[in-house]
Amino acid sequence: MSSLSGKTRHFIIELDAAVEAHMDWSRRVMRCAVLRASPGEDVLANEAHMLCRFGYWFASQRSDFDKLDAQKAQQVEVVHQAMHDAIRAICASILAGQPGAASDLAVFEESQSELTGLMAGFKTQFLSDAVCNDPLTGLPLRYGIEDEFVQAQKAVRREHTQLYVAMIDVDHFKRINDQYGHTVGDSALRHLTDSLTGVLRPNEPLFRFGGEEFLMLMQCPSREAATIAANRLVEQVRNSPMAMVGDAQPIKMTITLGLTRVRQDEFLDDAVARADLALYAGKRSGRDCYVIQDD
Ligand code: GH3
Ligand code: MG
Ligand code: MG
Repeated sequence: MSSLSGKTRHFIIELDAAVEAHMDWSRRVMRCAVLRASPGEDVLANEAHMLCRFGYWFASQRSDFDKLDAQKAQQVEVVHQAMHDAIRAICASILAGQPGAASDLAVFEESQSELTGLMAGFKTQFLSDAVCNDPLTGLPLRYGIEDEFVQAQKAVRREHTQLYVAMIDVDHFKRINDQYGHTVGDSALRHLTDSLTGVLRPNEPLFRFGGEEFLMLMQCPSREAATIAANRLVEQVRNSPMAMVGDAQPIKMTITLGLTRVRQDEFLDDAVARADLALYAGKRSGRDCYVIQDD
């Protein structure tokens, strides 16, 4: 887990601890039944599902779970409470000298198994998201481009539109790091990403390609539409300086964008190489612009 970010590591540790604590309940029920010993206040309290460490942590992380799968997150809440209610009923009966109800035991076993399964699913999903998405900007990393590219090629063939690849590079970004430091540089990259994603359409996936370089796929009806979209992005960044605290001047940023139309059945690498040529032509011609490289 050493290559994961601190946030991801912490999330996985909490998630594992929560699952383990709830698996441990089987042992606590057994001790309660055999020894007639209280399983503990955290099990017997009416609001136990809110008091337990998992319930507390899950509520505080709910928006992250909802982003991954809101329906499954809701299901976690339901089975977690069902599990608490069942174990409370079982232990209360035993402590009152009565046998627990078979139906409560069934609910306990089923909800425990469902909770474990749901959390295992979330763990897989969270880890794969952490590996596929850039922790700084939240954008997908370049590994996912190939799949999206193939899907986009199919879509433009089906819809008789055109596919374009745009390579975007922040202008003179080194100067921002040099002048303000790396941390502000990171914030500037996040700010720029938000500016770009704010004007993207659903069929314009944006990837963090490398340091301060981004790749975008664009499905457009025509060459003119592609150039309008490219210009929109260049203008958006130019007109969205990053505000600074206090009296400090906002940080202005610009991008240069290289655009090319993807040929029929072309490989992604070849289209990217052409978009790169367009990008460097844009840098040579003064930056803060887009250049289209014809096919
Ligand atoms: P150009 O207009 O020619 O692209 O100039 P540039 O300064 O943007 O290009 P150069 O390749 O010289 O420098 C890019 C800089 O971007 C250097 C690198 O340290 C910085 N950078 C890359 N990734 C990150 C990051 O994640 N955070 C920060 N703060 N800086 C980054
Ligand atoms: Mg660069
Ligand atoms: Mg640059």
